[in-house]
Amino acid sequence: MEIENDHPKSILIIDDEKSIRDVLVTFFEEKGYNVLTANDGRGGITQFQHHPTDLVITDIVMPRIEGIATIREIRKQSKSVKIIAMTGYVDSYLKEAIILGADDSIVKPFNTEDLMAVVDRVMGSEA
Ligand SMILES: [Mg+2]
Repeated sequence: MEIENDHPKSILIIDDEKSIRDVLVTFFEEKGYNVLTANDGRGGITQFQHHPTDLVITDIVMPRIEGIATIREIRKQSKSVKIIAMTGYVDSYLKEAIILGADDSIVKPFNTEDLMAVVDRVMGSEA
């Protein structure tokens, strides 16, 4: 096993559904991440400006700036942040998300094992 960095990884979760935020917060805190949340794109962009994280997981369909615009804005602020897009809607949104700066995507509904596989893939690619 690789030696982990001595600082914990940080993650920003952006989703308008509280139940999804709650599940992901619990999951990533158990994994040792520092977890921040926002419940829409506007809040996510502001949160990232003040507290840049190593990883952003964002929903696509949200009020007050949807995820595609959120990804574009966060990518403008940071070239190095890893971004994962998630949605239950049509696949073309996820393709657009990748074009606009997301590193990977996941289709809802997913289980946390599926998500962790995507996170490992994305975070591992920084080495
Ligand atoms: Mg949504």
